Amino acid sequence: ELTTNVMKYWLVTADEKMQTHKEYLSELDQAIGDGDHGHNMARGFQVAAENAKESTEEDIGALMKAAAMTLISKVGGASGPLYGTAFLKASDKWKGKTSLSKDEFAEGLEAAVEGIKTRGKAEAGSKTMLDVWTPVLDYVQHHDIAAPDVSAKAKESMEQTESMKAEKGRASYYGEESISHIDPGAYSSYLLFEALAEALD
Ligand code: ADP
Ligand code: MG
Ligand code: MG
Repeated sequence: ELTTNVMKYWLVTADEKMQTHKEYLSELDQAIGDGDHGHNMARGFQVAAENAKESTEEDIGALMKAAAMTLISKVGGASGPLYGTAFLKASDKWKGKTSLSKDEFAEGLEAAVEGIKTRGKAEAGSKTMLDVWTPVLDYVQHHDIAAPDVSAKAKESMEQTESMKAEKGRASYYGEESISHIDPGAYSSYLLFEALAEALD
């Protein structure tokens, strides 16, 4: 069951993973970007998780909206507004709720993916975070949220970005040279959904 506490624990676990993999995420971004992705994510999730830990908020929508605002203001770069929009769109669907059914969770995730697509003018297949978010959404819509499976789906999708050619963001400037590198935003998204799986466990 997705309670307020599970959602808080999701943010806290995501932060731990962003801190642990900060250097690796920035290394991935060094290859096909400007090398700041790990630092961007670590800075944003640290504050989002601190706020969530201190928060007495019961409303999942309000909790996630606060996280969205933090990500928008602290992460920066291309990924800050994209992650922020994702959380903001989801928070709207979760407003007034203190627990979410699997379908309610999926509804928020769907709004999040639509938000990323609109904001980034991208679809899956362009070697971005959407190449993890879209298959995870599809998985959640069609299966029970069996925790290890969400994580496995995210991991497999992240790995598939390695052979893709970047068509959006800074990585697109690398053209063919972007091939054979994992997309940094896909990797951080994998960490986010791995954290979800752990929070659900
Ligand atoms: P910046 O590129 O501004 O330095 P980051 O390094 O933090 O920002 O984030 C880069 C990641 O953002 C990419 O790896 C990719 O996953 C994601 N990204 C960039 N542009 C887009 C877009 N238009 N749509 C979806 N995701 C994008
Ligand atoms: Mg970057
Ligand atoms: Mg940057």
